[in-house]
Amino acid sequence: MITSKSSHELAYMRKAGEIVALAHQAVSKAIAPGVTTEYLDSVCERVIRDAGAVPSFKGLYGFPAASCISINSTLVHGIPGKTKLRDGDIVSVDIGACYHGYHGDSAWTYACGNISEEAHRLMEVARQSLFEGLYQARAGNHVTDISHAIGEYVYAHGYSIPRDYAGHGIGSSVHEDPTIPNFGPAGHGILLKEGMTIAVEPMVHMGKPQTRVLHDNWTVVTKDNSLSAHYEHTIVITKDGYEILTTANKEELSDNG
Ligand code: MG
Ligand code: MG
Repeated sequence: MITSKSSHELAYMRKAGEIVALAHQAVSKAIAPGVTTEYLDSVCERVIRDAGAVPSFKGLYGFPAASCISINSTLVHGIPGKTKLRDGDIVSVDIGACYHGYHGDSAWTYACGNISEEAHRLMEVARQSLFEGLYQARAGNHVTDISHAIGEYVYAHGYSIPRDYAGHGIGSSVHEDPTIPNFGPAGHGILLKEGMTIAVEPMVHMGKPQTRVLHDNWTVVTKDNSLSAHYEHTIVITKDGYEILTTANKEELSDNG
């Protein structure tokens, strides 16, 4: 069931999204060589709880932490722990917050210290692929118009996309219909309508698309150990486009910022 949110519901989702963005700001400032991922997670959880929200991911399908922190060849669902960041790591942080029953969900990949030119380029392309997808997010377009735009952009830059992970509808649950793949032909899936809230989240690999899940049953890594980057925003479909909900400062929003 895919619902359009009322203005009342959207007010809660804006707030949830703002809290997610504030948690990202705090975590991004804390990223440095030597810092543990569990410390980053504690920063994230404190911001969320201080704002009167609850971490969406803690306990979701049994996940043990407030954030997923995925380093280098880990694409998603890294569990925060004793691992210390090293100079040159790329660190994907995925954060969800629930405010008055409504969720925001956003992931971003950050550089720790001095990263390689190749890693930097991967991050740039992955981030831009999110916005290429978002440009197709408007009432009257099909869901896979977003998918197609992401895929074409990523493939044109020589990178790959994992097959088994996708964006999703979001609202009173973190994961709702529809599923939003990050590749494939345009013109399929439901028609987007004003008021629908979705999370668009390309994951981009430097190497091959294949992945595997580690023995903790969470951590997803690239099979060839190549680097992976992940960018995600929660948005609402508007009359003539979209509004990003997972932001704390609308003025700073741009596709190259
Ligand atoms: Mg997420
Ligand atoms: Mg998501």
